[in-house]
Amino acid sequence: LRRMIPGVCLDFDGDEEAKIFGLENIDKGLLGQKCGGLDVDALVNFYEDAFKKLDGKILFNTTVSELILKPEKRLGIHGEPFVWQDKRIVGVKTNRGEYYGDSIILAPGAWANILLDRIGIDSHTKPKKRQVFVVGGPSLYPLLNVKGFNGQNILPFTILPTHPRIYIRPCGREKSFWVGCADDIGRAFMLEDNPEAEESYYYQLYQLLRKYFPHFENVRPMNMFAGLYEMNTIDGNPYIFEEAGAIIAVGASGSGIIKADAIGRIVAALYNGEKKAELFGGRGFRVSDLGVEKRKVEKEEFIL
Ligand SMILES: Cc1cc2nc3c(=O)[nH]c(=O)nc-3n(C[C@H](O)[C@H](O)[C@H](O)COP(=O)(O)OP(=O)(O)OC[C@H]3O[C@@H](n4cnc5c(N)ncnc54)[C@H](O)[C@@H]3O)c2cc1C
Repeated sequence: LRRMIPGVCLDFDGDEEAKIFGLENIDKGLLGQKCGGLDVDALVNFYEDAFKKLDGKILFNTTVSELILKPEKRLGIHGEPFVWQDKRIVGVKTNRGEYYGDSIILAPGAWANILLDRIGIDSHTKPKKRQVFVVGGPSLYPLLNVKGFNGQNILPFTILPTHPRIYIRPCGREKSFWVGCADDIGRAFMLEDNPEAEESYYYQLYQLLRKYFPHFENVRPMNMFAGLYEMNTIDGNPYIFEEAGAIIAVGASGSGIIKADAIGRIVAALYNGEKKAELFGGRGFRVSDLGVEKRKVEKEEFIL
């Protein structure tokens, strides 16, 4: 590793500061050969185009304020639905008016609880802020020219053995790096309308980062952004289930881009009343495995 990544520090023997940070020597690294990046804009544009080709209509700047709950069998009496009536989500109230559908599919991400809590449906998820810092500068350029790991001759996406894990993602075209770290205890589960990245948080990561990569010494963020993970706090996998006639897809837990295709296919199978979804590559997946009642998934260990 030392030969391949000039300047990297793997050995902290005798480094008192590193000891305080709890940093351990690195004996070896693991390289994922079949890995890569995904252009999120391209992915979203693809879905938008595909949806429009199916005559789908997209309404931007439209907020759902309420889910409309009606009795399965309407009696036409004022005050419905009553306690003893089976209920069904039949539509949504928005700032543009009400919309009804034979089937309502909800994928409100971190905002799920606003809509679902009030009608007594548990999303099984909680929102938590996550932040990314963009850094660059000449001292980092050697890391954009690292041979032996991949065809691009660039440092791979690197996860450091810190607690919690700090990751760095090189962006060759922009000559920059994204730095992030998913903090756990101490970081509130909280819904924020406009979550902001905290520069002071970067400097906490920076203290550790510069130990492994002295290239980061004195490097400040050029840009930073934050968003919300909608965390399934039990197994870190999405929930896809039917409740009150609606299909609910939530809890991507920070992997909703990479899992979007699979989630979409499982939602489509549920909508079509199929027990099994066919994932990309032809692999079958039992729809109920990501549901609530018959849930059967391993814990997602790869959450950054
Ligand atoms: C900093 C950061 C980095 C990430 N990096 C990665 C990554 O590298 N790989 C990866 O796979 N995933 C990553 N993720 C996670 C990924 O972005 C999410 O898992 C994914 O966006 C979830 O998709 P979704 O469609 O379920 O929810 P969202 O993308 O959150 O979409 C939900 C939408 O519903 C809308 N909405 C909610 N409530 C209402 C309402 N009442 N009325 C109208 N609209 C409403 C919201 O405005 C939003 O547009 C990252 C997330 C963050 C914050």
